Amino acid sequence: MTHTLTINLSKIAANWQALNRFVSAPVDCGAVVKADAYSLGMAEVLPALYLAGCRTFYVANLGEALDARGILSDVCGSYSDVAIVVLGGCAPGEERRFIDYRLVPVLVSTAMLERWCTVNGGEHNVLGSILKLNTGMGRLGLEPAEFERVVQDPAYLARADVRMLMSHLACADEPEHSLNAEQLQRFRRALDVSSERYRPLTASLANSAGVCLGGDYHFNAVRPGLGLYTSFAQADACGLGLETAVELHLPVVQVRNLPAGESVGYGATYRAERDARLAVVAGGYADGLFRALSNRAHCWVCAPSGAGGWRVPVVGRISMDTTIVDISAVPEGVVAEGSRIEFIGEHVPLDDLAASAQTINYEILTSLGVRYKRHYIRANPS
Ligand SMILES: *Cc1c(COP(=O)(O)O)cnc(C)c1O
Repeated sequence: MTHTLTINLSKIAANWQALNRFVSAPVDCGAVVKADAYSLGMAEVLPALYLAGCRTFYVANLGEALDARGILSDVCGSYSDVAIVVLGGCAPGEERRFIDYRLVPVLVSTAMLERWCTVNGGEHNVLGSILKLNTGMGRLGLEPAEFERVVQDPAYLARADVRMLMSHLACADEPEHSLNAEQLQRFRRALDVSSERYRPLTASLANSAGVCLGGDYHFNAVRPGLGLYTSFAQADACGLGLETAVELHLPVVQVRNLPAGESVGYGATYRAERDARLAVVAGGYADGLFRALSNRAHCWVCAPSGAGGWRVPVVGRISMDTTIVDISAVPEGVVAEGSRIEFIGEHVPLDDLAASAQTINYEILTSLGVRYKRHYIRANPS
């Protein structure tokens, strides 16, 4: 039985366009397509975003960048109008390929900056490089004090052809958090120092949630990932009109009865109080239905008429390949072998599934796994 993940490319394109309108020109709205476009499939998502107008693509590492380069050169033929930015930077030994494939490294440490200077010397990458500053995330980037030191020697940054300063927000999804304003202030201070000592740099600070924090956070380029693939609370609050571009419907393998008092699944964690009817569904934790959803998640059975349906609970432990749903509330005969049960979609918001698993929508998306057949919906089928 094939499990199909339905991915709506028109919604992804429309989400990018909504974000692009929201930040408004000349701010460059890019697209973060790391982790195989949050597991929705870079090979399809990239061309859709390119055709929507996106020209800056952010990936995590060299492998992803080479994949992106291959996909995009099929679409647009040349290197000229697309920038591929590698957020994780350039690891030792990768410099040559960054130059050959015109990839933009985000230089995340002084060691990386130094290496880029020497390897890149004289042979500047046409798109220059980006320097990452740690303003409070504490993950990657130069400390502000380190930055102030390197900026004392403008020739040094010029040798690395640093053109942009980047930083990343730790609490953008909590608009009231005081760290947002603090990070903004530290970032601005570094930009001022650069203007005085080196040259004015362009700047990029905001991820999807950062975009929602408002114009102060947009600078020259924004880097939304999540918002391309799904809406989220803040995006709804600021009227962005984003939509979830993925739907998951899993096929029923078997319908069976569970007599009162009997248990179901590994560990016998669910016991029927009265006679129950169960649907065994193809798809388990190997497909991104986290085991934490056991006895917690709800899914949706559509009424045969198409109008309405039934919200039904997952019962027992989710196993590697199967999930069990209690369909006692659904009239007999509605669910049979081959019926499809909605796990993500109109009636089961991605965020609800994430909440049931006590995780975030990012983790649900990026765990969707390799076993699904990915079915793509396009505005104009070609
Ligand atoms: C993943 C990532 C993003 C995208 O973040 P979203 O919250 O998905 O929009 C932006 N910038 C950096 C540095 C990232 O690592």
